[in-house]
Amino acid sequence: MAKQELRRQVVIIGSGPAGLTAAIYTGRANLSPLLIDAPADTEKQTTPGGQLMITTEVENYPGFSEGIQGPDLMVEFRKQAERFGTEFLEEWITHVELSERPFTLVTDDTIIKAETLIIASGASAKWLGVPGEAKTPKGFGGNGVSACATCDGPLPAFRNKRLVVVGGGDTAMEEATFLTRYASRVSVIHRRDKLRASKIMQEKALRNEKIEFIWDAEVAEILGTQEHGVTGVRIRNTVDEEHFTLDCEGVFIAIGHKPNTDLFKGQLDMDDVGYIKTSHRSTATNIPGVFACGDVQDSVYRQAVTAAGTGCMAALDAERFLDHLPVEMPTGEELTMEGEHISPDHLRIIRADGEVVMNEPEAASVQET
Ligand code: NAP
Repeated sequence: MAKQELRRQVVIIGSGPAGLTAAIYTGRANLSPLLIDAPADTEKQTTPGGQLMITTEVENYPGFSEGIQGPDLMVEFRKQAERFGTEFLEEWITHVELSERPFTLVTDDTIIKAETLIIASGASAKWLGVPGEAKTPKGFGGNGVSACATCDGPLPAFRNKRLVVVGGGDTAMEEATFLTRYASRVSVIHRRDKLRASKIMQEKALRNEKIEFIWDAEVAEILGTQEHGVTGVRIRNTVDEEHFTLDCEGVFIAIGHKPNTDLFKGQLDMDDVGYIKTSHRSTATNIPGVFACGDVQDSVYRQAVTAAGTGCMAALDAERFLDHLPVEMPTGEELTMEGEHISPDHLRIIRADGEVVMNEPEAASVQET
């Protein structure tokens, strides 16, 4: 059967806070956005709505003074995007072609042509894959096991409790240090005897009296009951293979994130880990008309509210681009839809045919007459 073909001004990939915020803004700008997201699939670990769908209480999203459950927050985001005319397509994108505009996106059933593309496909926390780690009721995920200390650390369930942080990188050091504000004790479990974290982050954690380090150790199993949540971890020493149990009430997995960018490899500029590179002052990628927002381009803040903020930026950038206005590129120069470049010092305009004109009001008015 022939695939249906859709043509849209704005196509958004991803339905977390970044994608849905971009949809709300571009919807209100009468751009009728099409939002594409992968169908829910437990094997491929995809959840429409993003990481908040696997979170419980969200206490730090502004506007909800009593907190809100992650999935309930995403229902509100989605309803708001629907209200302004967002069209949703739940299909797996198998291929994208970004070499010319309109960009082409291909799914099993549909070919989508997009004048502008907003990528908000997020990042996924890496997990250990050990017994007890899965989402409750299969394991204790959401019931004592978390991959985000900033999100979950301040919850009552973790206050004055013995907590474990797994990992030896900057995230693990940052999360362990942060958790000492609430926990009675934080044990960092690392699989080697040397940390990967930067010197400054190591020093802060090593100096903190509430943090103990368990070296050459891997978590083999997270223990607990559905009634009481996590009660401990079974640890395997990687040198002598001995096993022992450490009592604790919470486990924070901090072994890194994987940005969901495989689809764009070789087409968009990315850092070593695979995060999409964007301009410092906009969400523009190296391809004019392609914007990236949320965790797919942010390895530092990774919060729902920062994702929503950059989703808004991506929408405004796409609107500017479609209005033929200049948008700042990662190189520092600005670019219009017609291929005009404005130099980083704002002094010159280089037209698509190579002609160079001064970017001064007088020069523009002389040209017009
Ligand atoms: P990371 O640097 O890749 O570190 C991951 C850590 O987890 C490593 O220590 C690794 O052990 C361990 N690990 C990985 N897989 C594991 C497994 N299956 N079992 C047990 N341990 C495992 O990731 P990250 O800490 O999330 O940092 C990612 C990037 O963000 C880095 O560039 C970092 O500098 C940056 N970041 C910066 C800040 C900041 O500056 N404030 C904060 C957070 C992150 P090995 O060491 O043995 O490989």
